[in-house]
Amino acid sequence: MNRTDMWRRIEAHPKAWDMVVVGGGATGVGVAIDAAARGYDVLLLEQSDFGKGTSSRSTKLAHGGVRYLEQGNIGLVMEALKERGLLLQNAPHIVHDLAFVVPNYDWWEAPFYGLGLKLYQLLAGKYGFGVSRILSREETLEHLPTLKTEGLRGGAVYYDGQFDDARLLIHMVVTAFEQGATLLNYVEVTGLTKDAQGFVDGVSARDTETGNEFRAAAKVVVNATGAFSDLLRLKAEPSAAPMIVPSQGIHLVFESSFLQGDSAVMVPHTSDGRVLFAIPWHGHTLVGTTDTPIAAATLEPVAMEQEIEFILATAGQYLTKAPTRDDVLSVFAGIRPLVRATGAATGVASGVSSGVSSTSALSRDHVVHIDRSGFVTVCGGKWTTYRHMAEDCVDQAATLAQLPEKPCVTHHLRIHGFPEATREHAAQEFGSLAVYGSDVYEIRKLIDTDPRLSEPLHAALPYVKAEVVWAARHEMARTVEDTLARRTRALFLNARAALDMAPAVADLMASELGWDEVTQAKQLAAFREVASNFALRP
Ligand SMILES: Cc1cc2nc3c(=O)[nH]c(=O)nc-3n(C[C@H](O)[C@H](O)[C@H](O)COP(=O)(O)OP(=O)(O)OC[C@H]3O[C@@H](n4cnc5c(N)ncnc54)[C@H](O)[C@@H]3O)c2cc1C
Repeated sequence: MNRTDMWRRIEAHPKAWDMVVVGGGATGVGVAIDAAARGYDVLLLEQSDFGKGTSSRSTKLAHGGVRYLEQGNIGLVMEALKERGLLLQNAPHIVHDLAFVVPNYDWWEAPFYGLGLKLYQLLAGKYGFGVSRILSREETLEHLPTLKTEGLRGGAVYYDGQFDDARLLIHMVVTAFEQGATLLNYVEVTGLTKDAQGFVDGVSARDTETGNEFRAAAKVVVNATGAFSDLLRLKAEPSAAPMIVPSQGIHLVFESSFLQGDSAVMVPHTSDGRVLFAIPWHGHTLVGTTDTPIAAATLEPVAMEQEIEFILATAGQYLTKAPTRDDVLSVFAGIRPLVRATGAATGVASGVSSGVSSTSALSRDHVVHIDRSGFVTVCGGKWTTYRHMAEDCVDQAATLAQLPEKPCVTHHLRIHGFPEATREHAAQEFGSLAVYGSDVYEIRKLIDTDPRLSEPLHAALPYVKAEVVWAARHEMARTVEDTLARRTRALFLNARAALDMAPAVADLMASELGWDEVTQAKQLAAFREVASNFALRP
């Protein structure tokens, strides 16, 4: 999979595409997989890198959403639990189950959470992950040795899924490509074209690497631009009522010593009524998140001081070693594309209460909306439910475009890299390279050909040089940031280590992509600017 071949496909394309998808996050790539696997002819355009938006900035949980259960939204939880099961089934190299412990400090919490989490387990039916149960104080501390013991009575354990969001997305991009879709990063959709009746019949776009502009005709155009959805809808219909309420969430990343053991902590009600997770992730501790309404979405959101302080203070209430600013290895912010309570939304969304002042109470359900101009928008939902969102969207888009009816086939479609070995065996044999699934053999071949590629890029992180070469050659990494933020997760795990690695990564990418010295210097400068948002100032 490389950009040159993708361009050749576009240039050789004689007629209108069955479907053009705008946006290369979980939603857009999910739609591309679904449509291509049904046999439709699909083009996906992403203005930046795949996953540059929210889809690399999540809590990385494949979950039903325990909190939505508390809100009484059983249908939403059941749907997500089923999707969680399908994700594990189809991408076992990237998704795995994880024990979550809800610590109890009041007498009523054990029966209350014990019962709720048992229901959560039962709702998963045959897609269940593990048996939830009430824990004694000792058992709770066996799961979470670094949990504060003061006032601790016990806990309740339940099981959910965890994954690497950007890595799953890249494997999904390859899956869509293998199913016949054409996908390009660094191509911005600048406008929509319409036929004589005023129906959207294509997009105008600009290759942000070369500045070249082109037009792609389509029988239907799908807007999967997440928090940016309204911007594109306004291009189709200047009077369109906004659908999206953007809400920011941040995470802080610390050393693994803050959360020892293999389990995560789930705090169902923080001081301001939100949920907080502390999770072991790639040998580090990930803590989040917040839910702060913001005025407008940006591609590189920045954590606010009060969000950082809130997470530090709340984590300090539960962990024996209270983290400080100096302990933060990385901070990252993402924007939830929540769907507005009223307005233009139609289709499959439901259950949105109006008049809410906090975004944490807004619906996490998804919407497929068709504007009068035939422009299809799919938004809302969550990472876990991307497959179901795509199925709904392609069903409706195909009907609208009068494409030949074809059933959805993604329930059992394996994501690229589906491994032969079990997760435990792969982890034993390949260590941190196990997330590449079956691609690990190809990465090993690179190392066999040039043993220098086995060299680590930094003592604090597990990444080796071969991963950079692989990313540039086969995963359409175009910038130093693509490699350090989304092909590896260096920037998300340890911003200063990522900055140290950047020159070596730029050297390797320069050889692969033919960069001259000026380009290499520009790449490094651009990366340093982005990385400054991930490195917390003392
Ligand atoms: C803090 C936080 C934590 C979360 N945690 C979880 C979790 O643990 N589990 C879970 O299931 N869900 C979680 N979610 C939700 C989940 O991450 C999102 O629902 C999902 O990633 C949204 O994907 P998307 O593709 O719709 O949007 P995005 O990933 O934002 O993708 C939209 C893409 O469209 C592109 N784009 C925009 N305009 C244009 C244009 N004109 N031309 C071309 N491209 C364009 C953007 O560059 C972007 O890449 C979380 C969300 C947040 C914010």
